[in-house]
Amino acid sequence: MALYARIAGIPEPSVFHTNEGHAGFLGLERIRALIGEGLSFGEALEVVRAGTVFTTHTPVPAGIDRFEAPLVERYVRAGLLPGVDPADVLALGAEDYEGGTPDTFNMAVMGLRLAQRANGVSRLHGDVSRHMFGALWPGFDADDVPITSITNGVHAATWTDPQVRGLASSKLGTDDATACDWTSSAVTDAELWSLRRRLRGQLVDDARRRMTAAWAEQNPGAAAPAWYRELLDPEVLTIGFARRVPTYKRLTLMLHDPQRLRALLTDPERPVQLVVAGKSHPADDGGKRLIQLLVEFSQDPEVRGRIVFLPDYDIGMAQKLYPGCDVWLNNPLRPLEACGTSGMKAALNGSLNLSILDGWWAEFHADGLGWAIPSADTAGDAAERDALEAAAMYDLIEHQIAPRFYDRGADGVPSAWVADIRHTLAALSPALSAERMVREYVERLYLPAGASERAVTADGFAPARALADWVARVRTGWSEVHVAHVESGGVDASPHVGEELHVRALVELGDLTPDDVSVELVHGRPRAGEELGETAAVPLALESHELGRPAVYTGAVRFARAGAFGYTVRIVPRHPLLASDAELGLVAVAQ
Ligand SMILES: *Cc1c(COP(=O)(O)O)cnc(C)c1O
Repeated sequence: MALYARIAGIPEPSVFHTNEGHAGFLGLERIRALIGEGLSFGEALEVVRAGTVFTTHTPVPAGIDRFEAPLVERYVRAGLLPGVDPADVLALGAEDYEGGTPDTFNMAVMGLRLAQRANGVSRLHGDVSRHMFGALWPGFDADDVPITSITNGVHAATWTDPQVRGLASSKLGTDDATACDWTSSAVTDAELWSLRRRLRGQLVDDARRRMTAAWAEQNPGAAAPAWYRELLDPEVLTIGFARRVPTYKRLTLMLHDPQRLRALLTDPERPVQLVVAGKSHPADDGGKRLIQLLVEFSQDPEVRGRIVFLPDYDIGMAQKLYPGCDVWLNNPLRPLEACGTSGMKAALNGSLNLSILDGWWAEFHADGLGWAIPSADTAGDAAERDALEAAAMYDLIEHQIAPRFYDRGADGVPSAWVADIRHTLAALSPALSAERMVREYVERLYLPAGASERAVTADGFAPARALADWVARVRTGWSEVHVAHVESGGVDASPHVGEELHVRALVELGDLTPDDVSVELVHGRPRAGEELGETAAVPLALESHELGRPAVYTGAVRFARAGAFGYTVRIVPRHPLLASDAELGLVAVAQ
């Protein structure tokens, strides 16, 4: 990395952001370099962790790199990491936790162990990730697992059509379309609608051109059929969908009830047209078969021209596709879409979203910002779920979306639809732009990681050495740590607002000292099972610690609201260089 910085002429970085497990080897190389400077593996690990942020990107198991441990061992033994004990490397990726597979090297697990700070890419995905990786922090509730979330954003300058920026610039005084007041009457409904019609027209032209070119490529020397010139209609409600990766996106959910789809496409009063873009991996036969199904459907003379499949989905196509669609459809299997970005790019151009409440849409959907397809998470099986979700999608298109789109005033403008466009542009564009995302990464992860990195590397790594010693001592001594006894008073099972719960806990610390731990009162709402929800942790104060006797801790919590509550007392390691209570995965909870 030092070499890279020198070649690139930039200052040596102090914070490293590893996106998904593939980037994890970066941490190993840095450990190797630090060992070369005289640190032990444990000390080097603390330095690397302090300055590393890990982002997990998918809850789909196939998206996570896992190797047989002996394969990884072969390479680390071959001298790739001089001075590093292969056993230490293998331990970083080991699935040595409940539910893990022996002799497996998991790159995401290594990524998490090499980073002091970690995140998922939408609020829902953060929650899913805390459950998915929770076994790495045994004994902690999912809410305490130290994986936060920063919702993805998209690069507005790339993904906002020049015509949208042009309108912002001429009427709203800025060509930053994510930072202007789209609800202002300085842009009229007629102007916005005319913009949307131009964008749709541009997509229709682009689709005809691509389809004709694809036909020519497959049928050299022959002219494309005449109806290719009339594919799609620039005045018809246009729904877009695209899919690059397999299965969970459900490319063919729209074909679930072909009769119903046919009726929507050919409705004499309120027709709908579908533009589908896709790309299948050459080795993905399942994906190719789904595309084949769509292509066959789209060639049925009754519907042809109202549904097109555009092959070779890429960025150039996407830049016309998202702005040109009135509605952007996304129907993943919740919660497998970590964030999803195509719908964000559509929203930046005033396209309205129709999506399963997954990824970013789960946190941003609201009235007037498009439509949520309810997930049938509790359906009996996958087939029933597809049937229910497809039916809900057809219903929304038929009863809400098409009527709103075709409800025109005397001037031909659908004013309710345009109000939704304004609302989408004004409310969503700033929040979905990469600028917001980058600011969050800087403020919530990079700056704290930079501070941690400076703290552990000060004085020739003295704090890193002390931290590594402390971690080793706490891990060794932890089996002796437990909560021996808890007494409480002051409230009954259902406290009133303002009442105080008083707690006194006796704890055994073995060879550790009160300086090594935090004893906490954790309270919250009882949930199903043993878990507490909406928890808060209040540190208890050390009252006494006599040699040979349990330490005594006391404290109180004042209830800000009435109703059932639950609480427990727990002991966690405490050190100023830890970023969270759960960091070491060590906890002792009152039985
Ligand atoms: C945005 C984009 C994607 C990713 O879309 P998701 O909704 O995040 O799956 C894939 N391919 C292209 C060409 C894109 O522009």
